[in-house]
Amino acid sequence: MHLYLLQLGARRQLDFELRDGGPPVLANLNRLAQTTQTTLPVHDTLDHFVGHVPLAGWEQLRRRCVQRLLRMKALDAARLLGQPVLLLDGTGLLCFHQRHCPQCLTQRHGKQTLYFHHVLEAKLLGPGGVVVSLGSAFIENADAAAAKGKSADEVKQDCELKAAQRLLPRLKKDYPQLRFVLALDNLYACGPLFALAQDLNWSFVVTFKEGRTPALWRDYQALLPLCPENALRRTWDDRVQEFRWVNQLAYEDSEGRTWQLDALECTEQTAEGGAHYFAWLTGLPVGRKTVEAIAQQGGRYRWKIENEGFNRQKNSGLNLEHVYSSDPENWKAYYLLLQIAFLLTQLLERGSLLRRLAAEAGRPFWKLFGSLKNVARRLLDSVRFVVWEESWFDPRQAGKLRIELDSS
Ligand SMILES: [Zn+2]
Repeated sequence: MHLYLLQLGARRQLDFELRDGGPPVLANLNRLAQTTQTTLPVHDTLDHFVGHVPLAGWEQLRRRCVQRLLRMKALDAARLLGQPVLLLDGTGLLCFHQRHCPQCLTQRHGKQTLYFHHVLEAKLLGPGGVVVSLGSAFIENADAAAAKGKSADEVKQDCELKAAQRLLPRLKKDYPQLRFVLALDNLYACGPLFALAQDLNWSFVVTFKEGRTPALWRDYQALLPLCPENALRRTWDDRVQEFRWVNQLAYEDSEGRTWQLDALECTEQTAEGGAHYFAWLTGLPVGRKTVEAIAQQGGRYRWKIENEGFNRQKNSGLNLEHVYSSDPENWKAYYLLLQIAFLLTQLLERGSLLRRLAAEAGRPFWKLFGSLKNVARRLLDSVRFVVWEESWFDPRQAGKLRIELDSS
């Protein structure tokens, strides 16, 4: 976890930054980990021990963090019509010019074959742009034996949609009390996903594009002028938003199942003359009272966060695309640890604890530390040079803490 919280960027940095640090390092880490080590393990030893923990163990750790946040109701402000919003977001993580493991996905580029690893991430939307990793499905070819003797083009590859079919039922089991609204891009505008959401008793808001569902798009365009009353105009200082919608569109999927979906759109004009257009399909009831919330929290937010979540994990000291372990199974453990650390980082950044500290010091947060990179460095200083007091670990004090997220 320190690898990420301190933004060290590579595993060997643990040796450079911690092993040769000040005298309190060993005592501090022993206190945190509740161990009695007499020397600091080198990073290869740590990697070895990471390999002895089943992935389910790291997943359980993440679940316990999330459940604590849910109990605190720290994420409730971002609910859509009372339901928590779950974003699905896939990204590429590793790419090699040679096969790295039997499960690699493969792709031909001319004469060259690339080997890579993707992940599908389910993220719970919190206030103030906070996203909480709830579940991860590694997109990989499980059946390596079946691929033997076949060219890369012939192997049926794992993909985001298949990964969603594995991931979402698992989340239903982990969080049976939550009725999610899935916020999805137009890849998911298809029968299998609608059926899955129905099975799980969840709702969805999915991007609506002509190319993905052309017949449905034509129906929508034909029906829009027939219901001019389904319109809402909102004026802000710097922009005008116009919402329009059509209820109960019929959609027949590739397996002959029929779905009733509401469609909505938002046209936004900015003062500088810019114009944006967005459209979505949803199983939620769209009307005058709900259209704006569905468009903003179910639709626009997903787009914003897609540009932020993985970007920040890749382009910061978290260094998501770094090969933290050459062992493919260990590497997944590092991925999960990074997700948990990112949750802690966001709580620090967006939570009320540091804001309160800054207020006590009479300075705004950014003047207190300057940047989040600096926060990571100050944490490193603390591990290395500050003797941590026993009272800081009092569970009764910690139990009283309530983290509120900045929703501004
Ligand atoms: Zn691989």
